[in-house]
Amino acid sequence: MTVTKQLNMILLGAPGAGKGTQAEILVKNYGLLHISTGNMLREAVKEGSPIGKQLSEFMSKGALVPDEIVTKVVIDRMAKPDAQKGVILDGYPRTKVQAKSLDESLNASKKNLQAVLYLKVSEAVVIERLCGRRGCKDCGKIFHVKNMPPKKEGICDVCGGALFQREDDKPETIKTRLKVYEESTKDLIEYYKAKGLLREMDAGSDPDALFKEINVLFQKEGLL
Ligand code: AMP
Repeated sequence: MTVTKQLNMILLGAPGAGKGTQAEILVKNYGLLHISTGNMLREAVKEGSPIGKQLSEFMSKGALVPDEIVTKVVIDRMAKPDAQKGVILDGYPRTKVQAKSLDESLNASKKNLQAVLYLKVSEAVVIERLCGRRGCKDCGKIFHVKNMPPKKEGICDVCGGALFQREDDKPETIKTRLKVYEESTKDLIEYYKAKGLLREMDAGSDPDALFKEINVLFQKEGLL
């Protein structure tokens, strides 16, 4: 299972729909580059630069970071050599303005978007997943207290780093993020539907089963 052509895709879905987990599986199988704007912005906040401080004002409340900032981060990353086989965009675009900027940038670099996978899950599943999510502060590996627990509580299986709960994965902020998500992505879904790129997938169950479905779909569509 490898990609023989360039494959650029977007993973759309509410926070907690499993975009990060699915991206990990896609990277392992197809060797594409995973671009998660949430991870990149969190890194910038961790560095503590003036721009990082500005970003944290939006992110800690669950609000969206301004379009121009996040678009620049993505476009710069997509221009690097390791992005040329294809990318999995996770968390971007989040608004129609961002989707249009992405189209312009892809056109300018003579690239195409091949698929937009819309991972659908119920709100109850999202809340359960986010409240139990824990991440490694060193390598970023994601766990879940019930669904994917580490071997040793609070410790990463991969690198031994400490696990932590994201500030914005606490119940009050989750509600805001879901509301923001719904309002901002309604337009996006229509946008990609109109372009014939949107593929709706049931993401409520096992991530490996979902990957199998995605792989069958990509084979059928001649994308691999
Ligand atoms: P995520 O990890 O994708 O849930 O993103 C965490 C936070 O980063 C979001 O709540 C936003 O504050 C910010 N963020 C990530 N991606 C974007 C984006 N495409 N546009 C604006 N803000 C974003």
